[in-house]
Amino acid sequence: MKKIGIIGSGTMGSGIAQILALKGYRVIIIDIEEETLKKGMQRIDKQLERSVSKERLTQEEKDRAISLVSGSTALNDLQVADLVIEAAIEDMEIKKEIFNELDAICRPEVILATNTSSLSITELSRATRRPDKVVGMHFFNPVPVMKLVEVVKGEDTSAETVNTVKEIAQNLDKRPIEVKDRPGFVVNRLLIPMINEAAFLYGEKVASPEAIDKGMELGANHPIGPLALADLIGLDVCLAIMKSLHKNLGDDKYRPAPILEEKVGKGELGRKSKQGFYSYS
Ligand code: NAD
Repeated sequence: MKKIGIIGSGTMGSGIAQILALKGYRVIIIDIEEETLKKGMQRIDKQLERSVSKERLTQEEKDRAISLVSGSTALNDLQVADLVIEAAIEDMEIKKEIFNELDAICRPEVILATNTSSLSITELSRATRRPDKVVGMHFFNPVPVMKLVEVVKGEDTSAETVNTVKEIAQNLDKRPIEVKDRPGFVVNRLLIPMINEAAFLYGEKVASPEAIDKGMELGANHPIGPLALADLIGLDVCLAIMKSLHKNLGDDKYRPAPILEEKVGKGELGRKSKQGFYSYS
């Protein structure tokens, strides 16, 4: 596999594109908006520049990686892709539309992977005529740093597809774990309800964000507190995952914290909007 298509040039799409290009894959990033596409490409450039300045990467390695990444707003450009990894927003209807179109554009043998955090791979796969080649390839944020990839097997996903995606994850120096297609898979089923509970604590004025985060850093040995982590993930992403857990697991213990809904409604999405539980300059 040489050419990999990425859908979405946001936090995750740009991170995935970056690590693929560093491993020598040619990457085509697709976004619906020119502006976000430009920002995504700039994010990759900035990240790699930082690695050069910290002497983790040579200028030549950076230039080579950048030369392998191209951007487009035309999904049709993925006709040449050998694999597609979708990292558009966490919305089943939008993802289904994308997969349906990809099914018509990409060669029949091409695997269509999704970076969804919580949505059903089986349901998404049925928007295509190749459900055996649809799989979850769930990277973690920040992609260049986090070692885990959850490889999610839908009901119709073939063992061959799962193995191919695991191999690619290993080529990217990640450690894949195979998980079943259940809402939130493994990590987000545990992690996002904890973040949601931290948002409840903040909303109930039990403690300040700093105190809540310090509590979990020092009391549970977490490297980062839940509210700082929520800002890093994106409050909109956290809310979408909580809603998906609530709807698909059908238990009120997964109800989103009102403060999370409120912040997302106000456009306070965390680091990406410079305001979340904390302010960023
Ligand atoms: P984001 O909001 O930063 O980026 C989403 C990008 O998708 C935007 O640039 C948007 O313009 C683009 N987009 C929207 N609709 C599109 C379409 N129809 N075609 C092409 N591009 C489209 O979101 P993100 O945080 O990068 O999340 C992307 C996916 O990855 C989601 O499914 C999310 O659940 C998952 N995910 C997120 C994280 C995280 O920590 N943020 C971690 C793991 C997985």
